[in-house]
Amino acid sequence: MKHYVNSLAGHFGHILAERERELRGALEAGKDNEVANGLAADGEVQDFKDLAERESQSDMAALDAARLAEELAGVIAARERLRDGTFGQCTACGKPIDLRRLEVLPAASFCVACQSAGEETAGAHPQSHRT
Ligand SMILES: [Zn+2]
Repeated sequence: MKHYVNSLAGHFGHILAERERELRGALEAGKDNEVANGLAADGEVQDFKDLAERESQSDMAALDAARLAEELAGVIAARERLRDGTFGQCTACGKPIDLRRLEVLPAASFCVACQSAGEETAGAHPQSHRT
């Protein structure tokens, strides 16, 4: 199986930058900007899950915004890993992530094994959001 190598940094950097731009645009285009406003300019995501829970009672659109915000957080984290040289490694077990998986999901932070293990147990993200 093929793994990410540093010569692919430009390739994935471009994909992730493009995706981040799309997600930010989609969030800003949303009627409810409260979730989008939770995304500070420096890329910190603030309590978007709390926001989503509160908003979901009145507005389903907030759930879509929360999903976008969550994906955006993943894309931002992946770009940070690209910068610090840990991109392409599973953030749970540290093993390299299959390159084919990264091509499909450039923001993936877990290898297939850890991802499926997390889905079985938590039903959500195996790694809790750290602030
Ligand atoms: Zn793993």
